[in-house]
Amino acid sequence: MLTCKEVLDSLSDYLDADMKEELISEVKRHIGSCSDCRAEFDTLTMTLKLYKHEHAEPTVMPVGCHDRLVKVLELEKLRSKGAPPPKMV
Ligand SMILES: [Zn+2]
Repeated sequence: MLTCKEVLDSLSDYLDADMKEELISEVKRHIGSCSDCRAEFDTLTMTLKLYKHEHAEPTVMPVGCHDRLVKVLELEKLRSKGAPPPKMV
């Protein structure tokens, strides 16, 4: 059985997904029965989520993709006007 100190010490490993399976289940069991550690765990996971969210790449489009799309749309516009297709460089 893990002590509170051992659980708290290993929480960062747990959050880094750098923990052995059997230790994870031990930590989870401890957190399930110890409100102090559960509170600590919740705080850490929430902080980590916020951190990841703030530093996440915008999920709109990968770099360069938007420019390509704009070019395609411009070509379509030219074509619908009856202009000759521009030469590909
Ligand atoms: Zn505890």
